[in-house]
Amino acid sequence: MSDVSVIIIGGGVAGLACAMRLQEAGVEPLIIEASYQVGGRVRTDAVEGFLLDRGFQVLLTAYPEARRVLNLAALGLRPFYPGALIRKDGRFMRLGDPWRRPWDTFATLSSRAGTLWDKLRIAQLRAEWATADVDAIFSRPETTTADALRKSGLSEQIMGSFFRPFLRGIFLDPELATSSHMLAFVMRMFVDGSAALPARGIGAIPDQIALTLRPGAIRTNARVTALRASGAETLVHLSHGEVLAASSVVVATEAPEALLLTDVDFGIAAHGVTCVYFAAEAAPIEEPILVLDGDGGGLVNNLCVPSAVSRSYAPAGAHLVSASVVGVPSLPDGVLEATIREQMTRWFGQAAEHWRHLRTYRIPYALPAQDPPLIPGKPVRVRRGLYLCGDHRETSTLNGALVSGRRAAETLLEDQRG
Ligand SMILES: Cc1cc2nc3c(=O)[nH]c(=O)nc-3n(C[C@H](O)[C@H](O)[C@H](O)COP(=O)(O)OP(=O)(O)OC[C@H]3O[C@@H](n4cnc5c(N)ncnc54)[C@H](O)[C@@H]3O)c2cc1C
Repeated sequence: MSDVSVIIIGGGVAGLACAMRLQEAGVEPLIIEASYQVGGRVRTDAVEGFLLDRGFQVLLTAYPEARRVLNLAALGLRPFYPGALIRKDGRFMRLGDPWRRPWDTFATLSSRAGTLWDKLRIAQLRAEWATADVDAIFSRPETTTADALRKSGLSEQIMGSFFRPFLRGIFLDPELATSSHMLAFVMRMFVDGSAALPARGIGAIPDQIALTLRPGAIRTNARVTALRASGAETLVHLSHGEVLAASSVVVATEAPEALLLTDVDFGIAAHGVTCVYFAAEAAPIEEPILVLDGDGGGLVNNLCVPSAVSRSYAPAGAHLVSASVVGVPSLPDGVLEATIREQMTRWFGQAAEHWRHLRTYRIPYALPAQDPPLIPGKPVRVRRGLYLCGDHRETSTLNGALVSGRRAAETLLEDQRG
């Protein structure tokens, strides 16, 4: 049995952020990661020269903790257009942010995505989002996102064509039962910054943090099966029989696994998503823009062409199409692909029939549910010497995972100082 001062179980963004903060304070933690690589839900697979993020995801450049912890410039971030293309009634309509793209004001105002009143109301809402104090957002009166939208004074037309598909694509929550605090937080982030993709794929984010850790700080291909208290130490049992002893343990796994390891009772409800990638000879959309299903009837809720955002996502002469379905349908892969292709042929014509299917990612546990009451800043100390971190402690975002890792590290350090 070997002795380590601090063991972090799980090398997702939260576990990595925790290790980074501990290392800054002079502690040398050991991360034990079940998979063959760190990153958890934030990984990118290189397939035939394409970069396939495991599920479409973006970094919001205004995330306060991401700005503190990450070297954003080194990620080579490429922004999305601030707005969306809406597919509705057989045509595409543009809804842009006139404050960021004044030259698109006319297209936005004249689009049939909503009424003129909607656009004026969005201008008012934008001003409210822009001035909201980020921390104060979470102590406002709370309801669900669906209810907040109903009360917003916006028409059914703009809710169906833009807000519902846009927010379903973010919260992965078909009913939009997600807390209205998340609506305010995410909109505030969109007003303050961009949605962006790193040039080397979303997995470049955990890779960047991992590179700041000392050599030997990460052990991959090692699954923790149980934790046992033993005097002042915790014994960490690994699946291949090895047992490690640590004075402090941080459980940085997804919520269901954290529940099994710690026996602490907390909510583990989550939302899933399915992401289907295609290779295309010609880009169906040449702009770095999100495309939304404004009709609401199709399997694909949102689509983009990552290679139009960052050329590095596809090899020369090819384009990458990413189609996202909210939830994980029980359709066999072939039927799923055929149904999506049919919808894409309606959107983009016969060319979609020739797209080559690259890979399908079915991700049942993508985001912990964030229904009201949403309490970011949930306790990270189980007892002295045993801590939790992960997006389930904060918000279900990269920002939340980063904050939770730092908080767990700081709580542990306080306890160590006595
Ligand atoms: C498809 C998708 C889209 C998303 N879109 C966005 C987005 O656009 N913007 C945004 O901000 N956020 C997004 N998110 C959310 C964001 O990715 C997560 O909130 C964040 O990555 C959670 O990090 P984590 O470290 O808490 O958990 P995880 O990344 O799940 O890390 C947990 C780690 O623990 C390891 N582990 C589990 N059990 C054990 C064990 N027994 N022993 C050892 N190791 C173990 C796992 O292998 C994993 O590496 C998205 C997530 C998904 C899946």
